[in-house]
Amino acid sequence: METTTYCDRCGEPVASGGPAPGDGHETCRTARAMEPPRYCARCRRRMIVQVTPLGWTARCSRHGEFTPG
Ligand SMILES: [Zn+2]
Ligand SMILES: [Zn+2]
Repeated sequence: METTTYCDRCGEPVASGGPAPGDGHETCRTARAMEPPRYCARCRRRMIVQVTPLGWTARCSRHGEFTPG
């Protein structure tokens, strides 16, 4: 079972069950429509983010690479 544990923008925990309205991360989700993530949602590690012509890639040293969508 995969659940988001940490906000991938601010690194703060999100409620179990995933992001929800009123959890305080609305601004993060709005920003994330424009920005790459900064933290791994599973382990809260800082990710290595590279902006590419097509968007971005973000790599967690433990969980591998994340891409938009
Ligand atoms: Zn957040
Ligand atoms: Zn990770």
